[in-house]
Amino acid sequence: MIPIRSIFLLVFSLTLVACSQENKHKPVMETRTEIPADPTSKVVKTDDEWKKTLSPEQYRILRESGTERANGQVYQEFKHQGEGTYHCAGCNALLFSSKEKFDSGCGWPSFYDPAKAENVILKKDISMGMSRTEVICAKCGGHLGHVFEGEGYKNPTDQRYCINGGGLIYVPAKKVTTAPTEVESTPPK
Ligand SMILES: [Zn+2]
Repeated sequence: MIPIRSIFLLVFSLTLVACSQENKHKPVMETRTEIPADPTSKVVKTDDEWKKTLSPEQYRILRESGTERANGQVYQEFKHQGEGTYHCAGCNALLFSSKEKFDSGCGWPSFYDPAKAENVILKKDISMGMSRTEVICAKCGGHLGHVFEGEGYKNPTDQRYCINGGGLIYVPAKKVTTAPTEVESTPPK
């Protein structure tokens, strides 16, 4: 027979697992329900202003050319996101969409092309002892990631825009159904 104490411990640890899984459901990639307007001109802010408008992780990626952890929570979210568009968390510029999204297996959100080419700038990057091509937001100068080509991916461009999802805003495409859908909301803190 199983001692009562073990059952208590089992129930207690199951509760802990449930709690930690609930925490994991908090999205790390910023998500919005409405498509933000593309900036009409370049967005210029001081470092202090960026710090006020961006989360610490968004600031680290976009303004300090940081890289998020491979295969982290952002990537897990990205893999399960359906149709939608991806915008710059710094200035709202449209950057990528689910149409160009593909599963590269590299651990970071991957696209084979930008959704709006004029919103993306490519720049040679020779930092960290490597020769790479940096992907930058054309509107606010935010660092997005790097692009690699000729790797043999079976996609229309054989390019892999390897992007930090933490610097993006995801806007799910509106479903064309008449049935009312329940919107998941988190209570304000
Ligand atoms: Zn931007």
